[in-house]
Amino acid sequence: MPSWMLQGAPYKGLFILVLVFVALEYIFNTVTETRNAIFNATRSYQLIEEKLTYGPAAPNHTKKANLSMDLSNLHYIVTVPPALIGVNLSTTYVTTVKRESDFTAENGTSTDKPPCADITQTLYGRVPIRKYPIPSLESLEKKFDWLMPGGHWSPPKCTVDKRVALVVPFRDRGGHLLLFLQHMHPFLRKQQLDYTIFVVEQEGNGPFNRAMLMNVGYSEALKSGKFDCFIFHDVDLLPEDDRNLYSCPEQPRHMSVAVDMFQYKLPYPAIFGGVSAISTAHFKLLNGFSNCFWGWGGEDDDMSNRIRYHRLYISRYPITIARYTMLSHRKDPPNPSRYDVLKKGQKLFDKDGLNDLEYVLVMKKEKLLYTWILARLMNHTSDHHHR
Ligand code: UDP
Ligand code: MN
Repeated sequence: MPSWMLQGAPYKGLFILVLVFVALEYIFNTVTETRNAIFNATRSYQLIEEKLTYGPAAPNHTKKANLSMDLSNLHYIVTVPPALIGVNLSTTYVTTVKRESDFTAENGTSTDKPPCADITQTLYGRVPIRKYPIPSLESLEKKFDWLMPGGHWSPPKCTVDKRVALVVPFRDRGGHLLLFLQHMHPFLRKQQLDYTIFVVEQEGNGPFNRAMLMNVGYSEALKSGKFDCFIFHDVDLLPEDDRNLYSCPEQPRHMSVAVDMFQYKLPYPAIFGGVSAISTAHFKLLNGFSNCFWGWGGEDDDMSNRIRYHRLYISRYPITIARYTMLSHRKDPPNPSRYDVLKKGQKLFDKDGLNDLEYVLVMKKEKLLYTWILARLMNHTSDHHHR
């Protein structure tokens, strides 16, 4: 063996070391640059809604009137069968949401607070996500002592013109709920929102009906107070960026655009599941969600169809901002008839939804961190779908 080769060995090691060093330096710089880019972007950041129209236009039978909709003058009447709501009065515990402004009024102090200033300058982009340890309810109640009963907060020194209700469909995911509350309250307060969190729990062990729980949340929230819009929120999705504003949308807004579990990509353009926001007027117009989806899947696509049918469109924030971490859970078995229900549902938008919603309100209670609603859901799917 020639001597230069033997001598080469230590040089080879040194060479690799230098290479590794250069690579590390490069990686470090990229990370720092990305971080700076995020931080710099924040300073001059303006939220722009990304409009996204999808699929074919509304079918021919769509009422023409919807094209030039005057939302202030909606004459869409929603009736909920009164007999079945809150029947069991002995176990029903109903209170109303008291707002900070109500207290101010009671105390006789001035109610003409100035409108809240633009908060976009105070947002800083990515926020930390904590998946463990799971906090205790008591520790959260102690930590968020600035909350008003019912999971409500609004800026004490200024007024916000829109009131937001977060509706969380729920059953048997206690750990997720605690992590969700731990994350959301500071997040929403930072955005200077007037908000209330409603956790709508399904009673019993029957198939879960996410969409119907949203309808229940909507109805019960409006009984407690005035809300300008609703944000329907899976309990296992945590927003990663505080520029993702939980404000009221002009058009239905799909919010969970980029989820870590889906490699931060939008799975398909018409998707409306996970987290979505709709104004109260639009939700009424759409007749809410369908009540016919029992078990996993389909209900969000049906809502997507409703939106298109009424010639509204799905708006989205940019993919770099509308980012979420999903907490892990076992996958529920998909409802095998979801495509069938989805297909038949196209003719049922006006029959199936808020105006045939039936449930028993088993419990409604204002906890500090959220308003808890427990509902027994009535199944009328077969009335519609097997005729
Ligand atoms: N959910 C719940 N308990 C259940 C099933 C669903 O609380 O047993 C609620 C919860 O808010 C959850 C949402 O419904 O985030 C959507 O269900 P899931 O997370 O199972 O759907 P996926 O993430 O698989 O689409
Ligand atoms: Mn999930």
